[in-house]
Amino acid sequence: VAVEVVDVTGSTNADLLARAPRLDAPVLLIAEHQTAGRGRAGRSWLSEPGHSLTFSLAWRFADGLRGMAGLPLAVGVALAETLGRLGQSVQLKWPNDVLKDGDKLAGILVETQVLPDGAAWAVVGIGVNLVMPDALEDRIGRGAAAMPWLARMDRDELMAALLDGLADALALFARAGFAPFAARWNVLHAWAGRPVVLLDRGEVRHEGLAAGVDDTGRLLLDTAAGRITIVAGDVSLRTT
Ligand code: ATP
Repeated sequence: VAVEVVDVTGSTNADLLARAPRLDAPVLLIAEHQTAGRGRAGRSWLSEPGHSLTFSLAWRFADGLRGMAGLPLAVGVALAETLGRLGQSVQLKWPNDVLKDGDKLAGILVETQVLPDGAAWAVVGIGVNLVMPDALEDRIGRGAAAMPWLARMDRDELMAALLDGLADALALFARAGFAPFAARWNVLHAWAGRPVVLLDRGEVRHEGLAAGVDDTGRLLLDTAAGRITIVAGDVSLRTT
């Protein structure tokens, strides 16, 4: 994987997506600062210089986009397991967040591009909060967690550990899809068995107990009417 570092850019995901048609090998692009970080559905990912890790990894999938909905979850597993190996315990919130003590520590955004030959590039963007100043948390407007312990770690060592975990996960995902990650995701599930509501554009669509994910990364929700499965479109989960 070629590693590139830039001082400042709008969005590392946007940069790699723009280059995807011309890439011939995986690239990790790290930004010291990102000024227009993206979340799902046009939301933003906020960060301040020196207070977070912001990077994206572009990975080619020869078979196109089949099964890709599970990729953000597989990336979450890789990230959480790497942090776990570093001694930092985190949990996963479906579909694409990493939580620490219930607050969002890291966000994952996967964006894709299909090439004329049917192959696809997935650009996996990750933001991890290292330090969370009150002013930034105020701008975010909801609970956000940070990991000062990581801020004190050697940055190259930390990035190397994260990249190792991600590259392994992406290679496995390309070979076998989400299935090998499902049990690992469920072990890390922040809200296992907890009452949750599923919001679709702010409206409550379903209520139930979060029962983990299936082999394709769909959320299993135990509702009054029985178990239902939810695909990771632009829906949001909240605890009640
Ligand atoms: P939801 O929780 O509604 O499902 P999401 O978790 O999918 O949303 P994303 O689109 O992945 O959210 O990320 C963008 C959201 O993350 C923002 O709308 C904001 O609430 C929150 N956010 C933005 N920057 C940060 C940050 N540095 N740390 C924690 N949370 C952040």
